[in-house]
Amino acid sequence: MRPQILFPLFAEASSLKGVGPRVLPLVQRVAGPLVRDLVFLSPSGVIVRRPMQAASATDGDVGIFEVVIDRLFPPGRPGAPLKVRASDATGFVHLVWFGGSPQHIDRLLPRGETRLVSGKVERFNGEVQIVHPDIVTVEKAADIPSCEPVYPATQGLTSRQLRKLVQAALAAAPDLPEWQDAAWLKKQGWPAWRAAVDALHAPTGEIDLSPDAPARQRLAYDEFLAHQLALSRRRRARQIAPAAVITPGAASDQLLAALPFQLTDAQAQALAEIRRDLASGQQMGRLLQGDVGSGKTAVAALALADAASSGFQAALMAPTEILARQHFEKLGPLLASAGVRAVLLTGRDTNGQRREKLAALASAPGPGQAHVAIGTHALFQDAVRFDRLALAVIDEQHRFGVGERQRLQAKGDPRLGAVHLLTMSATPIPRTLELTQYGELEVSRLMEKPPGRTPVTTAVLPLARIGEVAARLKSAVESGAQAYWICPLVAESEAVDLAAAVERADDLRRLLGVEVGLAHGQMPGAEREAVMADFADGRLPVLVATTVVEVGVDVPNASIMVIEHADRFGLAQLHQLRGRVGRGSKASSCILLYGGQDGALGETAKERLDTLRRTEDGFVIAEEDFRLRGGGDPLGLKQSGFPAYRFADPIRHRTLMLAAADDARLIMNRDPDLTTDRGQAIQVLEELFDWKGHKSGSD
Ligand code: ADP
Ligand code: MG
Repeated sequence: MRPQILFPLFAEASSLKGVGPRVLPLVQRVAGPLVRDLVFLSPSGVIVRRPMQAASATDGDVGIFEVVIDRLFPPGRPGAPLKVRASDATGFVHLVWFGGSPQHIDRLLPRGETRLVSGKVERFNGEVQIVHPDIVTVEKAADIPSCEPVYPATQGLTSRQLRKLVQAALAAAPDLPEWQDAAWLKKQGWPAWRAAVDALHAPTGEIDLSPDAPARQRLAYDEFLAHQLALSRRRRARQIAPAAVITPGAASDQLLAALPFQLTDAQAQALAEIRRDLASGQQMGRLLQGDVGSGKTAVAALALADAASSGFQAALMAPTEILARQHFEKLGPLLASAGVRAVLLTGRDTNGQRREKLAALASAPGPGQAHVAIGTHALFQDAVRFDRLALAVIDEQHRFGVGERQRLQAKGDPRLGAVHLLTMSATPIPRTLELTQYGELEVSRLMEKPPGRTPVTTAVLPLARIGEVAARLKSAVESGAQAYWICPLVAESEAVDLAAAVERADDLRRLLGVEVGLAHGQMPGAEREAVMADFADGRLPVLVATTVVEVGVDVPNASIMVIEHADRFGLAQLHQLRGRVGRGSKASSCILLYGGQDGALGETAKERLDTLRRTEDGFVIAEEDFRLRGGGDPLGLKQSGFPAYRFADPIRHRTLMLAAADDARLIMNRDPDLTTDRGQAIQVLEELFDWKGHKSGSD
């Protein structure tokens, strides 16, 4: 239930004076529907006004002038500005309007009268001028605010109108009990919540708009804390949800013995963490993070075998047909040798095949039952029923929406408890971001790669040197190497991109004198798959592709990766693409071609690509990408469900986020039901930010 103290903040914005039927939709668009949303509307700028005189007015600053109106010059021709000349003791000030009505302005500024005018000073041909002064008044200078926050105005609602509404909202805002730890707050030197929102809307200069301003830091911390608490809550809800007890058994041992390699220490450790969760009787929610090629699949396969060993069913869902098929082709026989029957479910099954597979998944334990379903989105369709699904594994989890993962999990039998969830991701993100994106999940990391990897030599070259690249490729292909050639989607239209890829394939066919396959997103699935399969089996030496190969495909013999327009990609994506090579015993190389006709590349872009040349560590690359892009949304996380913070910036405020995560953990451990005084205040905080309504990347 919402604490009563918050009622004024959760009132509709329409309850404020000045928010009528015309203004309300505008307020909703800019801020949100509630009084709270106006209180939380951060100024985007600040205007600092200084009293000035004509002779000493400084260009670019906002001045307040006390002037006597001298003369109005109507526009000399249509489109020309209207000017009013005014003067003070030191000289002239010209006030300029484009499209103003002479009658109106004449009334506003009668000749010989004294007025205060304010606006941004420009010097034009040596004259002081103010274009569209924002204040023209008879008031005294002292009545004009010297500092004024600027709000994100919209058509029909100016910054100044918004400021009035924000002030009205602030007047309605109550004092709230302190939810931050007293000692921490004191150490930080932050204001109380009420003082912080007041300060937010009363900046005294640019410095107060900085993310490092005490009021902004406090609000950012509040927001992180509320979010981390919401995530902890979900974690806790999961941890007390009963789930099937899964333990390793004969099938697991047989699978382990059948694997053509020994698990690395990192894999063994991750598996142990997963097994601890699976055996706990409470629902697992774990993210297995590991760079491309780190061997996540084997770990997942063992968890699948564990489920089967314990008499349950499991599902492995992958985002693309190719990937699902590859998993099935690799794991199917291994699982079968361990007595675990797997079926592949994709959108391409014929009706008959599909019916048979669905029956096998819905069967009671016995010879007719399939234990493992491997598949794409086809897995969570309504017709799919499991007899006893207990574990869902999601590969490349960011490719799925929240709802899609939940639909798969919902296929469990409630009598068996909640379905365990293991998600896998090869998108390296810095630890701080991991907290915001996956805060409710436990995380296992594969930091070490399987042995036998050959380092990938990376070169960064201008597209102009494509001839040399092709020549080198020719001799490599002649000695049996296989190569990917990536033509990304870069143009506005897919048709143009496609044409570029087709043309490149033709070029290469001619230059290399070998067969060159082409795979792109517009192809029918079956056709694309056939091409990929030919490449995987070594029948095609070269594969030209748009980014369809990006996701998890494994062709160990491929040792060359050429990426055109590398400068248009995010580093993380380039890193993923490069991860397609260096998987076998051959020395591998990756060639990043940048630029188009002009071939120019900015310094930052060079530095970015150079990062890839220097390191193959996905986490280092992710951190570097952040640094170079200076915040923002470097990995496209917002699209993948990154939380929309109002105040907090996970990059600028990263230390605050870490502290808030610790704080949340502590609170949930000490006072899970929030019954202490601080707990009560925390309830207010949680409600204030209302993360329940938000979705984070992993829920
Ligand atoms: P990813 O983490 O990108 O999903 P994969 O699971 O596809 O990586 O593994 C990449 C390659 O490494 C596969 O060919 C797999 O067979 C191999 N591999 C996995 N674990 C090991 C290991 N412990 N030793 C040697 N090779 C391994
Ligand atoms: Mg994988």
